[in-house]
Amino acid sequence: MARIAVIGAGMGAMATAARLAVAGHQVTVYERGTTYGGAVGRYEREGFAFDTGPGLLHLPAVYRDLFVKTGKRPLETCVDMVQVNPAVRHVLPHHGIDVTLPGASRGGVAAAMESAFGTGAGERWNAVLGRARDAWDATRRPLLEEPLRPGARRSLGDDPYPALRRSGLLRRRPPTLAEVADRELGGALAELLTGVVRGYGIDPATAPASAAVLPYMEQTFGSWYVRGGMRALATAVYERCLERKVAFVFGAEVREVLVADGRAAGVRLADGGEAAADTVVCGIDPRQLPAGSLPWPSDALPARGDDVPGRITLLLALRGARPATAVHRTVVHAPGTQVTVMRPDDPATRPDEEHEAVTVSAVPGPGTSEPTELLNLAEKAVQGLRERLLWHEVRTPADIEAATGAPGGAVPPPALAGAGGRLLRPANTTALPGLYLAGGWAHPGGGLAHAGMTGALVAGLIVEGAEFRGSQ
Ligand SMILES: Cc1cc2nc3c(=O)[nH]c(=O)nc-3n(C[C@H](O)[C@H](O)[C@H](O)COP(=O)(O)OP(=O)(O)OC[C@H]3O[C@@H](n4cnc5c(N)ncnc54)[C@H](O)[C@@H]3O)c2cc1C
Repeated sequence: MARIAVIGAGMGAMATAARLAVAGHQVTVYERGTTYGGAVGRYEREGFAFDTGPGLLHLPAVYRDLFVKTGKRPLETCVDMVQVNPAVRHVLPHHGIDVTLPGASRGGVAAAMESAFGTGAGERWNAVLGRARDAWDATRRPLLEEPLRPGARRSLGDDPYPALRRSGLLRRRPPTLAEVADRELGGALAELLTGVVRGYGIDPATAPASAAVLPYMEQTFGSWYVRGGMRALATAVYERCLERKVAFVFGAEVREVLVADGRAAGVRLADGGEAAADTVVCGIDPRQLPAGSLPWPSDALPARGDDVPGRITLLLALRGARPATAVHRTVVHAPGTQVTVMRPDDPATRPDEEHEAVTVSAVPGPGTSEPTELLNLAEKAVQGLRERLLWHEVRTPADIEAATGAPGGAVPPPALAGAGGRLLRPANTTALPGLYLAGGWAHPGGGLAHAGMTGALVAGLIVEGAEFRGSQ
């Protein structure tokens, strides 16, 4: 049994902790805040309740697997998880388009697209997602289910999306997502594809076409909501950790990873205290730890994440009932920008049936930096929004920084293949023996599902050693 120190109580770190405890290790999580879950927060006021972080989970299999591997009770008995249906509504006011796409129905999505975007739109969309499936099949294991192998950075740097080739044109470089959207979808429909990476703050003009795997994943595996709010998922993972005898120390900010005899030997806390450990799992952006305290190989960390943006979120308390026809998630597209409007049909989010809780979020940028700009766009999704508004709260990137510690409130996107490996994250192993990276800042990147995967990868590497080849 080894003593393992885990830095941070985010979702990736807790998923790792639970798996390591099951393997018989003595695990202690050091969390600088007063609670678990990191970005997965909840704000409550006057009977209204809002998710302040993620509002939906894609790839629920990641957490199903975590619960199967760490105890007797499966995920579904610990949280009430529902697939969102319809999956999403897209509003493109500048094109006069308002379309609702059903969940888990390829044919239904195609039919809705045909009627909103014109003849052939559904077929073109399905063809793009078909090619995205090929990219997914080609990279799913090395990109998501296996530790980042030596050399993978180079091989995954090639874009796996089989873009349609234009006859007569020499292909000097693979097309970007924006180019694929333009060529293979065209017109307003293209905005549905580019919007997926915009939601992560990635510029479609520089994003690899392989980012088409993101809508493929959404459409194939669905979008899932946890009744009572997404925080319930964090609570379930925390409780699973406690069941497995993981110890949590709150109010314990880690300042440094201790090194002895050339390997990680514990953590130093902000109060000067030291905790010895045989192995350390860093569940935060490792660049938060003082430079020089970690002997990184030169290519292990990308440049500081100033390019990774935060989010601005409005929590809206509305008078009046949520209409039965309201869609859980609406994306309002405007030229070069967009907002996401969440209207969960969940009594736990409102004081009574005469009120509604709505969350509006965006990557801050031109057209989405000010709350009034967000409200203007959200009004396209929620009729009579301003007249119904009782009060609102604004959550800025500074609030996210307070919850996660990530400088600037940055929210790391999932890792993507292509773009020369620019959108991959550092490997879960480091140059310092005994130090591992988990959470959204490590391979395979951010988002609830991807960060959850770091738990399987890091625990596998620690338990089985460097020969661990990924989860089955
Ligand atoms: C507004 C917002 C919206 C999002 N929307 C979605 C979505 O719709 N779908 C989706 O899948 N994902 C979404 N995400 C991302 C998702 O929430 C995260 O990727 C996921 O929760 C994984 O987080 P993590 O494991 O990296 O830990 P984090 O959430 O980053 O938590 C890190 C933890 O470490 C602690 N910590 C930091 N520094 C120290 C230190 N020095 N010592 C000790 N503890 C420390 C922090 O207090 C925190 O508890 C969203 C995030 C935000 C903020």
